[in-house]
Amino acid sequence: MKHIARKRFGQNFLSDHGIIDAIVAAIAPQPGDPMVEIGPGLAALTQPLVERLGHLTVIELDRDLALRLREHPQLRVIESDVLKVDFRALAATLGVPRLRVVGNLPYNISTPILFHLLDHVDAVQDQHFMLQKEVIDRMVAVPGSGDYSRLSVMLQWRYAMENVLFVPPESFDPPPRVDSAIVRMLPHADPPAIDVRLYGELVQTAFSQRRKILRNTLGQWLEARGFAGNFDLQRRAEEVPVAEYVTLAQAVQA
Ligand code: SAM
Repeated sequence: MKHIARKRFGQNFLSDHGIIDAIVAAIAPQPGDPMVEIGPGLAALTQPLVERLGHLTVIELDRDLALRLREHPQLRVIESDVLKVDFRALAATLGVPRLRVVGNLPYNISTPILFHLLDHVDAVQDQHFMLQKEVIDRMVAVPGSGDYSRLSVMLQWRYAMENVLFVPPESFDPPPRVDSAIVRMLPHADPPAIDVRLYGELVQTAFSQRRKILRNTLGQWLEARGFAGNFDLQRRAEEVPVAEYVTLAQAVQA
């Protein structure tokens, strides 16, 4: 029976075989890789992936789609909201230290998914995600560019990221209203030691009014925490490199 795409689950199914092949090539699955796919849907990526892997774990929220996927003997189907999945526990269940995570993500919750995986990053080997191109532009942006934002600073301290493939709307059925792309995310092997909660608060405060100089936003936040060190608050949030935010968070938490 034909599945009717559900908008509330962000369902846009890949239908262009050239694009599907290019995504699978970018992921480069090897037999036995401990891979987890988020939102397999109608299995456009799932099928070529599992053919190469031999076995694949998939996380799907839509009950009807999960039911179909269960018919596939090489798939382990987790019917759940991905935001509730404990990726550390999943890696332990599969008997591996780290997972390879992939997916054409539901765009309505892509940022929460990225932050949920950031919370579980020690259980992740790499991530390949289809996202709105505009979101990927923000993830990989450099300081001083218009796209440099909270998302850039929250992810770049922890991952090396690159946009590996452009995907136009007509590659999907139904087509989304936006351009898409594939991002590769590799966790840094030796990340700086920071209190992630504090760092998140600092970055959110800095970018709360991105056009204003930091004295008006971060300045007050730092003062409330008794920070007396050196930090140029005459800049705007979008001018400060990630490494400086990291150093500042470390100084505040010390
Ligand atoms: N992978 C398929 C493809 O490329 O054609 C489908 C991608 S579609 C953009 C997103 C998929 O994520 C849908 O199958 C949808 O049901 C599923 N999904 C939506 N919200 C979810 C959630 N919170 N947890 C897990 N899966 C979800």
